[in-house]
Amino acid sequence: MKYFLVTLSFLFSSLLIGQTNQQIYDIIDAVSSERIKKNIQILANFGTRNTFSDTISETRGIGAARRWIKSEFETISKKCSHCLEVFYQKDFVTKAGNRRVPHDAWVVNVVAIQKGNKYPNRYIIMSGDIDSRASNTMDFTTDAPGANDNASGMAGTIETARVLSQYKFESSIVYVGLSGEEQGLFGGAGLAKYAKDKAWDIIGVLNNDMIGNIKGVDGVIDNRTFRIFSEPVPANETERQRKLRRFYGGEVDGISRQLARYIHKTVKTYMPEMNPMMVYRLDRFGRGGHHRPFNDLGFAGVRIMEAHENYTQQHQDIREENGIKYGDVIEHVNFNYTKKLTAVNGINLASLAWAPPAPKEVAIGGVVEPSAKFKWNKVDGAKGYKIYWRDTTSPTWDNSRYVGDVSEFTLNGIVIDNYFFGISAVGENGFESTVVFPNKVMR
Ligand SMILES: [Zn+2]
Repeated sequence: MKYFLVTLSFLFSSLLIGQTNQQIYDIIDAVSSERIKKNIQILANFGTRNTFSDTISETRGIGAARRWIKSEFETISKKCSHCLEVFYQKDFVTKAGNRRVPHDAWVVNVVAIQKGNKYPNRYIIMSGDIDSRASNTMDFTTDAPGANDNASGMAGTIETARVLSQYKFESSIVYVGLSGEEQGLFGGAGLAKYAKDKAWDIIGVLNNDMIGNIKGVDGVIDNRTFRIFSEPVPANETERQRKLRRFYGGEVDGISRQLARYIHKTVKTYMPEMNPMMVYRLDRFGRGGHHRPFNDLGFAGVRIMEAHENYTQQHQDIREENGIKYGDVIEHVNFNYTKKLTAVNGINLASLAWAPPAPKEVAIGGVVEPSAKFKWNKVDGAKGYKIYWRDTTSPTWDNSRYVGDVSEFTLNGIVIDNYFFGISAVGENGFESTVVFPNKVMR
């Protein structure tokens, strides 16, 4: 009888895990490169989507573009019995005090929220950008199709909303088109502040900016590799936290970095044909993106992006010079690659939105002892916890042990000095939270 029960429960849990796997593969398969192509074409056809361009025309400028994006989200919502809450979130920016603002204007984001049924106030955010730019960022009339930068990210966000709207999640998912990226990350700053004011518990931001180019200016053609940029530690950490890090570690283990590792692992598991490349920096060298304003307020956020950029095809007026064709036109976008990176977002949003919250408090001990010890707070909805560790020089959580539904554990024979450690929560359905680096020391 006991054997029978053990076998039965084993069978049951493998069935559950089998089922979760299947949903993830279904999400990957449901992403359509045809729809992505169509949506990028429509966005590019608005002529320019410069944040300061025409807002009245039905066919040209950022006004027409955002109305179309909103109507796309609304159409998706109608097909899932109104599962999306769609609205504009906007802030006014003025020419005064802003070098790259040609005139006062509203910076308008289009937001679609799919509310979670268990943790409605926990949010995982996927963003793309509505806006585009010509060679001169102040020029709001010249054609700037921005097919890759960043109609690709915007089209991927709309497509992900369409695919995931067919499922129900425990946490909320936000799909958003942000504006004002090119002139100072205004839209991201606006939504980050909005989220903070509403006390959103943000799991993380997946900012997609340029997810369609496979032919690099370096001559490399690569439709498998993509980058995940993440800052090392929160930008708003306190001086005390900075000082403690010197003694207890964590220089490469901030919350955004854990999100990057989560994405890396999910992709390695479900899309083994792809090469996720974690880049240990906030963004490209000296350049910016819309995850940063969220990082500024202490939220986890990463940038997902192609591995090989082509600078003649971004931020350039359409023209030909010395045989080189400049301009961010649709001919350069690889829709199948955008589809893959869209699926990368879809499976990570789903995995996180189906997972329980991570423990908030994780304490570690074991100084001058042969074993590392842990204590953490239990979280609602977890069936158990997993302890992770890795060599201090490794970028990924290479070792793990599932320890069941307990709130403390000792890893016998594992010396605290020689590894970095972290803990995640695992749900009944097998989905897992991000890993939490210890934030307390037990003496
Ligand atoms: Zn750009």
